[in-house]
Amino acid sequence: MAEPDTLRRFLFEGAAVRGVMVHLDATWRAVLERHDYPEPLRELLGEMMAAVALLSATLKFEGRMIAQLQGSGPVTLLVVEASSERTLRAIAHWNREIPAGDLQDILGDGRLVITLEPSDGAERYQGIVELTGSTLADAIVHYLERSEQLDTGLWLAAGKDSTAGLLVQKLPDSAEGEDADFWNRISQLTATLKRKELLELDVRELIHRLYHEEDVRLFESEPMCFRCSCSRERVGNMLRSLGKAEVQSILEEQGEVEVACEFCNQKYQYDAVDTEQLFASDVAHDIPPTTQ
Ligand SMILES: [Zn+2]
Repeated sequence: MAEPDTLRRFLFEGAAVRGVMVHLDATWRAVLERHDYPEPLRELLGEMMAAVALLSATLKFEGRMIAQLQGSGPVTLLVVEASSERTLRAIAHWNREIPAGDLQDILGDGRLVITLEPSDGAERYQGIVELTGSTLADAIVHYLERSEQLDTGLWLAAGKDSTAGLLVQKLPDSAEGEDADFWNRISQLTATLKRKELLELDVRELIHRLYHEEDVRLFESEPMCFRCSCSRERVGNMLRSLGKAEVQSILEEQGEVEVACEFCNQKYQYDAVDTEQLFASDVAHDIPPTTQ
C-alpha cells in the first residue's frame, strides 16, 4: 500500500540521477469535492497535480510554482499551484463536452506556462512552451528539455481516489559517457512501470520492483496537503486593483461585494464600510505632500 499524501525523493548512489515520487489522496479528493469535473478532465487534472508536486520538489526554491495548461478547447485552462511547504491547489475550466482522447483532443492548440513566484519578493520567472505530444507527461518532459536542458522521465497516473507520479532526472552537473549509459538503463527500467503499480505500490516496493540491482538512497517522506493560498488580504488587493469607482458600482448594484475563491469556494464579503476601509488606506498613501 502506498503511503498516502506523501512525496519522497531518492538518489542513485554514485550516479548523477535523482528521482521523486508522489502520492496524493486526500489532497486530490479535496480538489474533486469542490468542483465536479467530467471524466477526461478529471484524469488530466489529477495527473497535472502529481506532475506539479514532482516538479516543485526538484527545485531549491521558497515560494509558489504555478503551472497552467492553456487550451483552445474543449478544456481552456488548468491551473495547479504548489508551494514550497508542499501544499497544492488546482482548478480547471472547460466550455463544452470533452471527448475521451489524448492531450491535443482535450486542449486543442495550447501551451504550458510555468511561473515561479519566490516568497522573498524576488523577480518572477516564467517559462512557456507550445503543447506537444499526446500526454501531459510528454508535454512536461518537452518543457524541461527546452527550458532547463534536463533529461527527465515522467510517469503519471490518476485514479478516482488517488493520483501518483514518478520523476527521474539526470542531474544538471552530470558528465557524459558512463552517466549516459546509466541514465539509459534507469530510463528503460522505469519505462516498465505499470499504471496500477504507480497508483498502488509503496515507494519502497516500487523502487525495489524497478531498480533492485541499483543502490538507491531514499530520503524521508514529506507530507503533502491541499491548502488554498487565498486570503482576505489578497482579495482586498485584487479589489483595490479594480479601482474605487468599479468597486463602488458593484456595491451599489448588489448591496455588497462578494468574491468567491475559485480554488476553494471560500466567499469573501465586503459591505459599504469594508470597501470604504479598503480604499481609505490607499487615499492615505496617495495624498501628495502638502506645501506648508
Ligand atoms: Zn481559496
